[in-house]
Amino acid sequence: MSEQPGPNTVCVHSAHAPDASTGAVAQPIYLATTFERDADGGYPRGYRYSREGTPNRTALEACLAALEGGTGALAFASGLSANMAILELLNAGDRMVAPLEAYYGTLKQFADLAERRGVEVRCVDFTDPAQVKSAAGERARLVWIETPTNPLLNVTDLKAVTAIARAAGALVVCDNTFATPICQKPFACGVDVVMHSATKYLGGHGDVLGGVLVVREDRALLEQLATWQRMTGAVLAPFDCWLLRRSIATLALRVRAQCAGAMAVAEFLAAHAAVERVFYPGLPGHRGHAIAAAQMPGGYGAVLSVCIRGGEQAAMRVASRTRLFTRATSLGAVESLIEHRASIEGPGTRTPNNLLRLAIGIEEPQDLTADLAQALA
Ligand code: PLP
Repeated sequence: MSEQPGPNTVCVHSAHAPDASTGAVAQPIYLATTFERDADGGYPRGYRYSREGTPNRTALEACLAALEGGTGALAFASGLSANMAILELLNAGDRMVAPLEAYYGTLKQFADLAERRGVEVRCVDFTDPAQVKSAAGERARLVWIETPTNPLLNVTDLKAVTAIARAAGALVVCDNTFATPICQKPFACGVDVVMHSATKYLGGHGDVLGGVLVVREDRALLEQLATWQRMTGAVLAPFDCWLLRRSIATLALRVRAQCAGAMAVAEFLAAHAAVERVFYPGLPGHRGHAIAAAQMPGGYGAVLSVCIRGGEQAAMRVASRTRLFTRATSLGAVESLIEHRASIEGPGTRTPNNLLRLAIGIEEPQDLTADLAQALA
């Protein structure tokens, strides 16, 4: 085998071996909440109580660490609970720098939960590293990156922003949900912690809610985050761990097909008269294309947004007419979804009201473009 196994090999084989006691090739699901002690009171098999750890969580976390190339990973009950473990590192008076545009639930946590605790949250445009530099100053403790962003697909230069954060002494966290470990490797750009909503591509089938943190190399930080995870019980249940580990086996296959589909759909929409604007970093006209081309060697992701000519009603009409695209929120699953984004984000959203977000599944690209052609006609 070559020194660096390829993405499919990592997805299939990481932390995956036949069960030692039965020979079962797929890992059994261990639902037990408690584990037997030895006569001397010890726990020689490593497990005590399921909030602290389970065999299925151990396997999943080892696989996630291998996928991102980190020293260790933690599996949480949701993406937002993974975010909370990071916010918990901050104290009143600390400063964090965050993007003006990102997943609205994340921004709401920063505004409603972090700020309420006395954390100073400075939101700036991350497509301009100079703004991050001036917001970080010399005392930011945390710089939070999401790239590409949800839903405008803005691209942050990971190397540039990480260097700025490092100079300020800040921890750098990157939400890698949209890019997936197949398309983008934040650790190669110096990022300290990678976060995922596992609900999306890692799960891939729209049937598991989960969140992930992967730590690049700081074992003490990993332990601090693990302590918070165990003490709050924000853990992923054994069956959900098993589902995620099972889905990750096909992650690279799915994501590559989804990226190819997204590119075809983006090119089709960019040439359509009913479309005002397409947001997809794979298009040469996207303002973050050059950075994305450099830091997303595995593909540009499979989410794109589109502004429809004629305003909100015209956009709603397009979404109401699609047959293959299901009208629903979320992304990353095998089936394609379409969503009027501003109405789910609610009051205060920065998202244009004629914007539809498309999450591309694994259907044949020509079937997706044909569906959109009839919906836009
Ligand atoms: N980060 C991004 C980019 C997301 O799109 C989402 C959810 O849509 C989250 C985080 C939150 O994850 P979860 O819904 O699993 O809590």
